[in-house]
Amino acid sequence: MSIVVVGSVAFDTVITPYGRVDEALGGAATYFAVAASYFCPVKVVAVVGDDFGAEHEAVLLTRGVDTSGIERVPGRTFRWGGEYSRNLNERKTLFTELNVFETFAPVLPAEFRNTPYVFLANIAPQLQQSVLEQVEKPELVALDTMNYWIEGSLDALKTTLRQVDILIINDEEARELSGAYNLVEAAEAIRVLGPASVIIKRGEHGATAFLKYGVFTVPGFPLRQLADPTGAGDTFAGGFMGHLASTGDHSMEGLRRAIVAGSVLASFCVESFSLDGIQGLGSEQIASRYGEFQALTRFDDI
Ligand code: AMP
Repeated sequence: MSIVVVGSVAFDTVITPYGRVDEALGGAATYFAVAASYFCPVKVVAVVGDDFGAEHEAVLLTRGVDTSGIERVPGRTFRWGGEYSRNLNERKTLFTELNVFETFAPVLPAEFRNTPYVFLANIAPQLQQSVLEQVEKPELVALDTMNYWIEGSLDALKTTLRQVDILIINDEEARELSGAYNLVEAAEAIRVLGPASVIIKRGEHGATAFLKYGVFTVPGFPLRQLADPTGAGDTFAGGFMGHLASTGDHSMEGLRRAIVAGSVLASFCVESFSLDGIQGLGSEQIASRYGEFQALTRFDDI
């Protein structure tokens, strides 16, 4: 099964305690697509400016990603800058230059409209809604959002959430959206809004999934080498949805495996800057880290 992702393609300037990159390829849709491409065919809907060159597109094309839904318009591609504190869980946005993203109105090519899996990356909920109006009865819709939309477009977000199967957000966003500090309460409150499942990303602490069958927690992988957590959340979502789309197994066990697959890809993402950690992975590397996750969390009966 294939996935369509709608979201940002960007040039990111990122400063972390381990170094910096300037105008490196990034964007939520880019991270998602590269991660998901290890498991299933992926199509991207996004907008870029005339500074998005063949070398940038090649990052997606070499992963077999369908880029025909990336619209090119005159002007500069979206740019974002962020700086992380020592613990990498906190970051401040240095700048957001919307550029061609300001007037982005996603249009799905006709051949994308019956894609069974849809990922709505972090964009305005009204635009996420417009994507849902263009797809034909998708099998599974997942969505990401951020505090900016929770604070500024809550009604539109709630309307969109009614049509979403899985919400994938971080702990602070879950608290803000629900008004509950406790994450169990937060997930319960969010599920009332529509999504049958809520996956809460917790940075270095991993992810906790409140699924319709029960709760599943996966730790963050204990990494010695850290570089840049940018895009780890989108990478997690890509690995998770990609795996789910490749198996079509939506059972509790299928969802648990997909959550670990997402965590595996996210762990590679933070080891390097930009997309470097998730390009060119071998299937044996992915399988080996999956096994390490298994070993990390296995224990015997009491
Ligand atoms: P994450 O670390 O998961 O929050 O994702 C970071 C990625 O999201 C970066 O590559 C940015 O280019 C992109 N990004 C940052 N701000 C926005 C925004 N307001 N809208 C869409 N994408 C954004």
